[in-house]
Amino acid sequence: MSLKEIFCQDKAIGILQRAYAADKLAHAYLFVGPDGVGKFKTAQEWAKMLLCNDKIEQQRPEGVFYDSCGNCRSCEVFEGGAHPDFNHIYKELVEFTKTGKGKTPLDLPIDVIREFIIDKVAGRPQMSSATVYVVREAERLNQSSQNALLKVLEEPPKYCFIIMICSRLENMLPTTQSRCQIIRFGPVDAEKIVEQLTRSGVAAGEAKYWAAFSDGSLGTALAWAGLELKDKSCYQIKTELVSRFADYELPDALDFAEWLGQSAKKISDAWTEKQSNVSKKDINRRTQTGLIRMIIAALDDAMKMHLGNDAAFVNSDQVSKIEKVGKKFDAEDLAEKIGKAYENMQWVQRSVNERLVFEELLLNYAGCGKIISS
Ligand SMILES: [Zn+2]
Repeated sequence: MSLKEIFCQDKAIGILQRAYAADKLAHAYLFVGPDGVGKFKTAQEWAKMLLCNDKIEQQRPEGVFYDSCGNCRSCEVFEGGAHPDFNHIYKELVEFTKTGKGKTPLDLPIDVIREFIIDKVAGRPQMSSATVYVVREAERLNQSSQNALLKVLEEPPKYCFIIMICSRLENMLPTTQSRCQIIRFGPVDAEKIVEQLTRSGVAAGEAKYWAAFSDGSLGTALAWAGLELKDKSCYQIKTELVSRFADYELPDALDFAEWLGQSAKKISDAWTEKQSNVSKKDINRRTQTGLIRMIIAALDDAMKMHLGNDAAFVNSDQVSKIEKVGKKFDAEDLAEKIGKAYENMQWVQRSVNERLVFEELLLNYAGCGKIISS
């Protein structure tokens, strides 16, 4: 892969290219935007280009487009995942710090920042003319980690580039933000996502659903559409979920919650197999949030039905089921249920027990939720 193959982030890449051409590249960047729109991919390919020893210079109407050659020793080693001048910093590295063995990382701890950036940053490049540090999920840098980083962000060695990937800029301290150049990454168009999914072999109807579900996040759409579960696809789970949800009555709550729990487990297992470097806790969270998001999408669609906006359905493949949901509640009720479902989603982030989250969601939906404190 190379920079030119990155999907739909021409604007962000254009800013970097112009800065590079003018020899005005900043040494610290914050790549900001929703999850799954290509921030990390861009950082990775940008790093590969910076480290490449035989860069390609392509003339384009908007200026020179620099890219990695893909053939030099640096590119080869980069592709192999072991480039000595490329440093990928992520919270699971805590396991490899002096005192972190066995710890489950929730945020990006200061030990990781110290051992994998601050202590290493003065080291000269070994294979290329630059060193690159890419910090994933920078929004998880806690205050002390960010404070520890300030000096490095302010005065990195001239051969060193730091790129922080961030989906919530509000979590970054003003002092951090002011030391970085911020590059914004926008959502990807739904049609482009459908195009990409169908190209990778996903059926057209399914592709349309995942594109609408993912809300401009190509990474999310590709991840859900491409998961291989043992007995059924994620799309089959989603259609069953929407059907069950449309037919749902209060006495089914426990049974339905149990089914959601089992489905979450199947999805998480498949995800763990695919992404072994992400913590199990994060994967479980992502799965549970995704299932709740499917319910929210169904409620949202029912709301759109009341507003006469059927064309914008996420579940355009299950219109009769959505109509059934829409007939149970008026727009006001739906707005309230959607609000509650978002609250349940926040519980997932706070690690409330999965079974409880699903039960509460379904009881709320039936109109008799109880308040739990968390
Ligand atoms: Zn190269």
